[in-house]
Amino acid sequence: MSSNNWNLDPAPESTAQIQLKPKYELFIDGSWQKPHSKKYFDSLNPANESILAQIAHANQKDVDMAVSSARRAYRDVWSKMSGAQRGKYLFRIARLMQEKSRELAVLETLDGGKPIRESRDVDIPLACNHFFYYAGWADKLNEAFAGQKPSSIGVAAQITPWNFPLLMLAWKIAPALACGNTVVLKPAETTSLTALKFAEICQEAGLPNGVVNIVTGFGDTGALLVAHPDVDKIAFTGSTAVGKYIQKACIGTAKKLTLELGGKSANIILEDAQIDQAVEGIINAIFFNQGHVCCAGSRLFVQESIAQQVVEKLKFRLQSIYIGDPLDKNTDIGAINSKKQLETIEKYIALGISEGASIFQPECRMPTKGYYCKPTLFTDVAQSARIAQEEIFGPVLTIQTFRTMEEVVQKANNSPYGLAAGIWTAKGARIFGMGKQLHAGVVWANTYNKFDPSSPFGGYKESGYGREGGRHGLSAYLQFNT
Ligand code: ADP
Repeated sequence: MSSNNWNLDPAPESTAQIQLKPKYELFIDGSWQKPHSKKYFDSLNPANESILAQIAHANQKDVDMAVSSARRAYRDVWSKMSGAQRGKYLFRIARLMQEKSRELAVLETLDGGKPIRESRDVDIPLACNHFFYYAGWADKLNEAFAGQKPSSIGVAAQITPWNFPLLMLAWKIAPALACGNTVVLKPAETTSLTALKFAEICQEAGLPNGVVNIVTGFGDTGALLVAHPDVDKIAFTGSTAVGKYIQKACIGTAKKLTLELGGKSANIILEDAQIDQAVEGIINAIFFNQGHVCCAGSRLFVQESIAQQVVEKLKFRLQSIYIGDPLDKNTDIGAINSKKQLETIEKYIALGISEGASIFQPECRMPTKGYYCKPTLFTDVAQSARIAQEEIFGPVLTIQTFRTMEEVVQKANNSPYGLAAGIWTAKGARIFGMGKQLHAGVVWANTYNKFDPSSPFGGYKESGYGREGGRHGLSAYLQFNT
């Protein structure tokens, strides 16, 4: 069966309720301010290459203004406010986000290309939950860190990527504000819209001016923010290359830094696993959301005795995957976020072929406009192959086999990254045994890509350091005075 045979009627989510301005200014000190650069750039819909809005490009002067505004708000208002009062603002923001969840989901899909099912059922509910969760901590910091006298740090500079725009914003802004810090956030240049909608929500919630500032722009704007002398804390999620650059820029300064970087996570299927369940888990781990997940299970390790069966089932399942309009509720795989990213993925697919791996892509109808990539399997992959070592950030899965537990742990850990891993087995003892040996910040068992605000997330090795989420996520925004 191929997706050509589905013949599903289109079921697009309506865009009628979206209120987009043609042009977005910078959100500084509680109001919209024109960029000193006088420059704007287009935010495109990657599903059809249409222009959604123009976005301001912040320069040094704008970044200076945003940081000063955050400093004033920190000094005069936010750091003096009780935790209970800060919590009330966070609860209000969470409720407003929930009320506008449909609009936020549609915007996320329009701007980023991810299927509406993902934005609606995963991104936006989780983003709201993060605000609810950290709102609850705001007045309990002394209990969370008993005897350690926690206090806020100051002004946090936060830089987010394009794969989970609003969720990454929530991971960063919610704990920062709960702990009494103020923020300047720079969203990724291809997905600024939900951050700008969030600024409107801050206004509607009556958040004091300057507590949240949103400056838009490219890497140059992010670099200005990182280098700013009046920033006390930097939180970055993005590529390992930029993370290393930021780390260097912070050497010799007192800035606190957390980095959530790339990944090449191992998804391990043991021979006693429920195969059908595991096959769905593999698909979910890498193909939904176009592989645009830093913890995507992009390296599959299947025990030799079941490898043929798993690969056959995977191929069969991929034939029924629906690729197309991200706004369509039936769509499994939407658009790749940008032309640049599509080119990167295509380069890796060509590389995989030239490295001697065998490729499989399902036969399916592809949209003629926009940035799309077929889900791709590679078998006969050498451990040293670049497609098995480097982060691709697309719907590309490498498949390797193994015979023993020791072998697979060694192969899985043989990576510069260590963000996440998955284990599929019927035996609890194997989960605990292997879980302890895998060098990964998160290990999922018989599931994948499950998130909750109460559980910390973060990596080992080149996947970064520091944790976001849970009580651990609070400590990144506090200093301790014991
Ligand atoms: P990707 O390669 O996946 O797009 P990046 O690491 O380039 O990821 O981007 C993640 C975020 O970092 C984006 O908001 C981007 O604008 C920002 N960024 C890129 N370069 C720099 C830099 N040199 N300093 C600070 N931020 C940067």
